[in-house]
Amino acid sequence: MFCPKCGREDVELFKGLCKSCFLDEFELINLPDKIEFTVCVKCGSTLKNGKWKDQGLTEEELVYNAVVESVETSKMVDNLEISVEILKTRGSIFECIVSASGKVLGEVLNQDYAVEVKKNKTVCSDCSKYESGYYESVIQIRADRRVPTPDEIESIDKILIERANKLSKKNRMAYIADRIVLKEGVDYYVGSYKAAKSLLDSIREVFGGIVKESPKIAGRDKSKGKDLYRIWISLRLPRFHRGDFIEYENIKGQVTGFNAKKIMFNELNSQDTGSVIWKDYDNIKIIAEREDVENAIVTVKTPRSIQILHPETYQPIDIPLQPSIESIEVGEEVPVLEINGNFYILKKPAE
Ligand SMILES: [Zn+2]
Ligand SMILES: [Zn+2]
Repeated sequence: MFCPKCGREDVELFKGLCKSCFLDEFELINLPDKIEFTVCVKCGSTLKNGKWKDQGLTEEELVYNAVVESVETSKMVDNLEISVEILKTRGSIFECIVSASGKVLGEVLNQDYAVEVKKNKTVCSDCSKYESGYYESVIQIRADRRVPTPDEIESIDKILIERANKLSKKNRMAYIADRIVLKEGVDYYVGSYKAAKSLLDSIREVFGGIVKESPKIAGRDKSKGKDLYRIWISLRLPRFHRGDFIEYENIKGQVTGFNAKKIMFNELNSQDTGSVIWKDYDNIKIIAEREDVENAIVTVKTPRSIQILHPETYQPIDIPLQPSIESIEVGEEVPVLEINGNFYILKKPAE
């Protein structure tokens, strides 16, 4: 056995050459002639296997990833390590040196390769949807037999802006493409259905309300042969507000707040807290509004009752004493509510 290149005799051959000649000709890696990557000029995400991802990488990282993804190597190479140095940038071309090191036949090899990496600039699908005002869902804020108040709208605007800002860091489609004020409420046009659901949840945490979804065909995706739907989500706020008085299953209460699941209230008789789930909304009766609360003076207190003066007629009225009003003293002014001739002493609002 002899090496045809250097003529050495009595040596083990690798692909027809002695070890030293074989290693001289061996290339640790193969790089294609053309290395490219594609980046969105709006959000900085990159195209990877047909999907847009990895927002916010630096140019060095993008070049490095593009090189590493196009490297081919032989099974003979162990512990392959690659580093990339950008020597020069010409427009969208990066001239680089790729340094490879690895072990072949027990020997460590270090090799440098000159390559050019090209950056393709475009606008990703999400950003182009955003630019064109595309929307997948509409949140409609309405109210039951009334119009949402300016205070409610202002507060909902704030919730939506805050939440959309937060979501958009991870979801490019969490944008509000349009806001339209109508006689009956406000419509918010949202990039994606998923984002709209999440925005809606944050409103419901504060306002509760009843949700109804209606999908409507908005066109056809010819490439997939499927209809495209746009989903209209209506949120109906309750007819009453915080502080109003309701009756549910013979319990009278003052509404103290809402969340996504239920309406919370203080019972008028006991001042215990109670709640009704939104599904039972239609069985709630409004018995008075917060504006109906009056103030009355306490004139007499006995072990069984408290006497107040009627706010208008000043007639004495006896109210049975319960634990919740035990601490009230003669001479105090207390908030009261009259329903069908019966007076209730209310819990004083927290100061
Ligand atoms: Zn040789
Ligand atoms: Zn983008």
